[in-house]
Amino acid sequence: MKQVKIKCPYCHARATLRPANVVYGQNKRSQGKYLYVCDRWPACDAYVSAHNHTHLPMGTLANGDLRHKRILAHYALQHLCENRHMEKREVYIWLQSKLGLNSKQTHIGQFSNWMCDEVIRLCKQASASFPFDQAV
Ligand SMILES: [Zn+2]
Repeated sequence: MKQVKIKCPYCHARATLRPANVVYGQNKRSQGKYLYVCDRWPACDAYVSAHNHTHLPMGTLANGDLRHKRILAHYALQHLCENRHMEKREVYIWLQSKLGLNSKQTHIGQFSNWMCDEVIRLCKQASASFPFDQAV
């Protein structure tokens, strides 16, 4: 299987494309899925999901803390979508303008802890402010 060369940002070991059941165990969550896992796993708890078809990494490798933060950031955006009746695409455009990033850079999977905190903060702020148009 073709894989890209990426390194673990924590320990600088290489990351290898492996079936998700290596990490998640044999269950529904791991079925047919792949992850880029740090070669030092499980001593180094860093991995990232791969896209189903292309098997390209969805972002940078993340440890437990960062994986959790990225999930929270996704929830915050989803919440904002529902709260404001926006489409996912619109929310991402809004996020780009807030963070000063382009569309290629605006992927939660590539965000650091700090960036995820920023996403969560901005979403909370936008959910609280009204009308939304003035907050953009
Ligand atoms: Zn590592």
